[in-house]
Amino acid sequence: MSRSAHPAGPRHADVLPEGHYTAPADDLNSLDPKVWAQTVGRDADGVVTVGGIPVTRLAEEFGTPAYFLDEADFRARCHAWRGAFGTDADVFYAGKAFLSRAVVRWLHEEGLNLDVCSGGELATALAAGMPADRIAFHGNNKTEDEIERAVEAGVGRIVLDSFQEIVRVAHIADRLGVRQRVQIRVTVGVEAHTHEFIATAHEDQKFGIALAGGQAAEAVRRALQLDGLELIGVHSHIGSQIFDMAGFEVSARRVVQLLAEIRDEHGVELPEIDLGGGLGIAYTSDDDPREPHEIAKALGEIVTRECEAANLRTPRISVEPGRAIVGPTAFTLYEVGTVKPLEGLRTYVSVDGGMSDNIRTALYDAEYSVALVSRTSDAEPMLVRVVGKHCESGDIVVKDAFLPADLAPGDLIAVPATGAYCRSMASNYNHALRPPVVAVRDGEARVIVRRETEEDLLRLDVG
Ligand SMILES: *Cc1c(COP(=O)(O)O)cnc(C)c1O
Repeated sequence: MSRSAHPAGPRHADVLPEGHYTAPADDLNSLDPKVWAQTVGRDADGVVTVGGIPVTRLAEEFGTPAYFLDEADFRARCHAWRGAFGTDADVFYAGKAFLSRAVVRWLHEEGLNLDVCSGGELATALAAGMPADRIAFHGNNKTEDEIERAVEAGVGRIVLDSFQEIVRVAHIADRLGVRQRVQIRVTVGVEAHTHEFIATAHEDQKFGIALAGGQAAEAVRRALQLDGLELIGVHSHIGSQIFDMAGFEVSARRVVQLLAEIRDEHGVELPEIDLGGGLGIAYTSDDDPREPHEIAKALGEIVTRECEAANLRTPRISVEPGRAIVGPTAFTLYEVGTVKPLEGLRTYVSVDGGMSDNIRTALYDAEYSVALVSRTSDAEPMLVRVVGKHCESGDIVVKDAFLPADLAPGDLIAVPATGAYCRSMASNYNHALRPPVVAVRDGEARVIVRRETEEDLLRLDVG
């Protein structure tokens, strides 16, 4: 590794430019357990390890950039969610956060169910042996072909998202001679993101059927009339990266009100409600996520209370965490290629990946942490922007963070909490080769999704 000298970037608080960043940690070598996977630590040489394996060895064996997923942490999180919700509720992992056959097998073994939202995700789930009745099929525009495959496979539920789809699924179920279990996705007029939620005027979106104006009640009326459908409940998903339970409270109240209206109008008590996913994780030390048992307790209490008030039997609850299970379990490992100090501004650190393996920063202004992981350093903190190698100035991985001022080409740095929506949203922009996902457990590392090759790219290019 080269350790070329370079001019120092801005370091001191009085020369820091405007921006959203927190002060550097007292010790840049420390790893906040909130943002790193469970088995991450440093060995006696100061090299970061996961599952007992130093990242320097992982980089040698698997190359960079690469995602390293802590399997023990993934299973522990599944176990915690399963345990927190108990046998009266179902936990559906939202496959869109990250899905592979290994992940499906872990979910199956840990007793979780699975949400899919495309034919490709359904195929992956079935290929890895997830029992179809534990799969829920989502999406605002499922194709006829996807619906047919889902009904034929016998998925446990299809979540209906529009009036057209109610008819479409009923028709396909009739043709195949089955009665398909379905839920209706409603928009409750709540949108929640991170620390805020807004309780009005958020029907303006593509998902679901609005409670407002009696739309959802009309959808229920139609679904109940169709022989091909068995309406088992109502579904609501209010947002993403949510810390505040208040949005779920409003959502649960409105969903239970709808169940009461359905009982009054049709004389049926629907047996299930699904409150969706969206629970937040810590990307930086500033985030304080809730534990699964707190979430389960809060949701259980809200639903029980609302049902008692409406004199309804308490329905079976389901939840759909994606990010909260897989997000914290993985980090992306990069090699530093260039270090470019801009006097009075910040130092740009270029890595060998970027927006093709993590689009969330460019897409949502997402915040991430970063650490030097191939060694420790006593150098003072330097304000950095970690950028990728793509031809796009918005190609930012970590917008504002601190790394040691002696950072140099050849150093390995890692961005934690990249398990969700990074590999699953990865692209081939600039003909980048999408990185592998390597599962690490008890001193062993194995590739669960291999790195793309130039042959993979050329195979699709038929000339
Ligand atoms: C995306 C999504 C989820 C999972 O969201 P997370 O933020 O990953 O927990 C759950 N349910 C539905 C319907 C979704 O669209």
